[in-house]
Amino acid sequence: MAELGEKCAVFGVYGKGLDVSRLAFFGLYALQHRGQESAGIAVSDGDAITLHKGMGLVSQVFNEELIENLKGHITVAHNRYSTAGGSKVKHAQPMLAASAAYLKQIKISYADEHPSLNDSVSLCSGPDDGAIALVHNGNLPTTDALKEFLESQNIDSSEFSDSRMIVEAIAACMREDMGIEDAIKRVYPMMIGAFSILIMSSEKLIALRDQCGIRPLSIARLNGGYIIASETCAFPPIGAEFLRDVNAGEMVVIDESGIHSEQIAPANPKLDIFEFVYFARHDSRLLGKSVYEVRKNFGFELAKEFQIEADTVIPVPETAIPAAVGFSRQSGIPFELGLAKNRYIHRTFIQPEQHIREQGVKSKLSPITEVIAGKRLIVIDDSIVRGTTSRQIVKMLFEAGAKEVHFLSSSPPVKFPDFYGIDTPQQENLMAASKTLEEMREYLGATTLGFLSFEAMIRATGLSADQLCASCFTGEYPIDIRERRNEINYNTMIRQSEPSPVS
Ligand code: AMP
Repeated sequence: MAELGEKCAVFGVYGKGLDVSRLAFFGLYALQHRGQESAGIAVSDGDAITLHKGMGLVSQVFNEELIENLKGHITVAHNRYSTAGGSKVKHAQPMLAASAAYLKQIKISYADEHPSLNDSVSLCSGPDDGAIALVHNGNLPTTDALKEFLESQNIDSSEFSDSRMIVEAIAACMREDMGIEDAIKRVYPMMIGAFSILIMSSEKLIALRDQCGIRPLSIARLNGGYIIASETCAFPPIGAEFLRDVNAGEMVVIDESGIHSEQIAPANPKLDIFEFVYFARHDSRLLGKSVYEVRKNFGFELAKEFQIEADTVIPVPETAIPAAVGFSRQSGIPFELGLAKNRYIHRTFIQPEQHIREQGVKSKLSPITEVIAGKRLIVIDDSIVRGTTSRQIVKMLFEAGAKEVHFLSSSPPVKFPDFYGIDTPQQENLMAASKTLEEMREYLGATTLGFLSFEAMIRATGLSADQLCASCFTGEYPIDIRERRNEINYNTMIRQSEPSPVS
């Protein structure tokens, strides 16, 4: 187990007098792009924790009545994303664990693993006999230390995800009369990997980030209360004002007496550059930089590296739109929208009929023939991972009458697997890990194939390479991945920066 953590969103509120469950609903709504598989909100009123979670989009899991029933002044909330196969309600978050002995006996830690979908559960808790709730964005590549610790506490972790291990380990320490902060500090060294975590007890909201700060986490203020969210785009819709990022290695505690901070591990900040490349929403800010501006800069740089004669530049919507704008500005080649995206297509739990399955990408993207027919196109996508989508897009564009399809990725080739929660496939399924540039071009069927160089990508962020984790491009993993190193082959086919296109 323990392979589930993945790309997700976390959101939390502390604020007396605030309608925290409603804020959580709209916060999760703004963070829906980070995960569409399950959603959940846990609320504490100081006495009881009430949790509701289920499979699907935020709007499918919650309704007015459920939000009304989640009463309190502290909340933690979560959107989860995972690949097919890993989709089970037992991995949905928030996860609860009993922080007092008698609650463990009534198995509260498993109450949120109820097999039926969209189950609600109310738990009695108080300062001395409580439960804690945890939400996690990120992934722990290695969980041996946590497993060993849980074993020493007679807790069988064989079916646990990494997030479940963390919450159970903290709760186990609390059952030995440790306060929540001390329990977190005890468990923190066993958490080897990427995590932006929120933990709620009956009295406190606590935020925690790994010492590299691989996944983002920011704090805002609202009417005397505090909001913590994976991305800053969650703040404006609820009227909250950005305060600062949670620092790498920092524990932020919010309770009745205000906001306190403690650096519990030395910081070595390295935000995952893939947040700029693909994950984050255009209107978020990461490390003080506008995601939109950085993506536009990817396009400027790409146009400098690839001077191709063409009639029109089109993006693969949505993420690559700013990069295509930048490319068009720099190259002078007109920007058009050549592909229309159905915004309402999301992961569903209804199996597609065979004929629909074969349609593949056509269920999400449709060519706009008027833009495409007879044209020499430059197509910009934010990244190429497996190559399966890109291949279908190239085919679709030629079928719609394109004369040439020059396919450019506004990030370098993804050659190494991810272990920190962005959910890329195993290395053997990464197109750039096993094929030369020419083989890739042939596979995609494109007239030209090109990737932004590593150096240009870094330049576009306005940050230095040592402030960023770029492991999926370089194979350098800033947090030890221990035994998972065996899964990596460094003998990949194409060099780091190979700007010249193949046509
Ligand atoms: P493909 O050509 O099949 O490798 O698909 C590339 C597309 O997948 C790009 O348009 C990206 O926007 C998107 N993408 C990149 N990383 C991820 C990810 N971790 N999860 C889902 N989609 C992704």
